[in-house]
Amino acid sequence: MHKAVYPGSFDPVTNGHLDIIRRASIQFDEVIVGVLHNSQKTPLFSVEERVNMIKSITSDIPNVSVQAFEGLSVNFVRSCGAQVIIRGLRAITDFEYELQMAQTNRVMAPDIDTMFLITSLEYAYLSSTTVKEVASFGEDLDKFVQPIVAKALRRKLLGNEL
Ligand code: ADP
Repeated sequence: MHKAVYPGSFDPVTNGHLDIIRRASIQFDEVIVGVLHNSQKTPLFSVEERVNMIKSITSDIPNVSVQAFEGLSVNFVRSCGAQVIIRGLRAITDFEYELQMAQTNRVMAPDIDTMFLITSLEYAYLSSTTVKEVASFGEDLDKFVQPIVAKALRRKLLGNEL
């Protein structure tokens, strides 16, 4: 069984994340999306909300599951019985941080490898932060996130259900 974990904040999950999840699900028998509960940060969405949104938009992919986790990614990956961490790479700006994290993880857990999937061109600019910013101005979110996520953003940031 070739299992991979895709860890992240997913606050909220964007079409860029979904693209990585779909592509990873083709390469691995099982993909576990790990949603980080970080007590040092205040996310817009609770960890339960983030988990539920990802579950809902990946319900058509049978080999993908979603779990919340706390602490180090490598410990979570081990507890899942997985050997691989998936991360997405957008631009040079992602690279330095991702390289440092992958190398640190490799020192802590030489049995676990990080694999990077390069973003699809149409999602290269997309981040949870910019999506939240656009959402706060009430703009259309259809190109950035799935409808259920757009609805949750409108409810959270604008207090409206439309
Ligand atoms: P983190 O806080 O762990 O960086 P994110 O939710 O921002 O969590 O991102 C999780 C992973 O998904 C990271 O590897 C990030 O580079 C990647 N990612 C984010 N947005 C995109 C995108 N548009 N295309 C491809 N990968 C992405």
